[in-house]
Amino acid sequence: MPACKICGKRIMVAKTGVRSYVCRICGRVVCREHFNLPRGVCVECFKGKRPR
Ligand SMILES: [Zn+2]
Ligand SMILES: [Zn+2]
Repeated sequence: MPACKICGKRIMVAKTGVRSYVCRICGRVVCREHFNLPRGVCVECFKGKRPR
């Protein structure tokens, strides 16, 4: 079972409508709460808008 790399919560992918999300910048697996759907990135990468 995957776990969110930000909050450490396990992602219940067996549940309907629940899935893990992979950030397209850092590749981290995160939960819905820590993923920015429109951008396709995790909240950490979304906050740090300018990657170096
Ligand atoms: Zn999370
Ligand atoms: Zn990220």
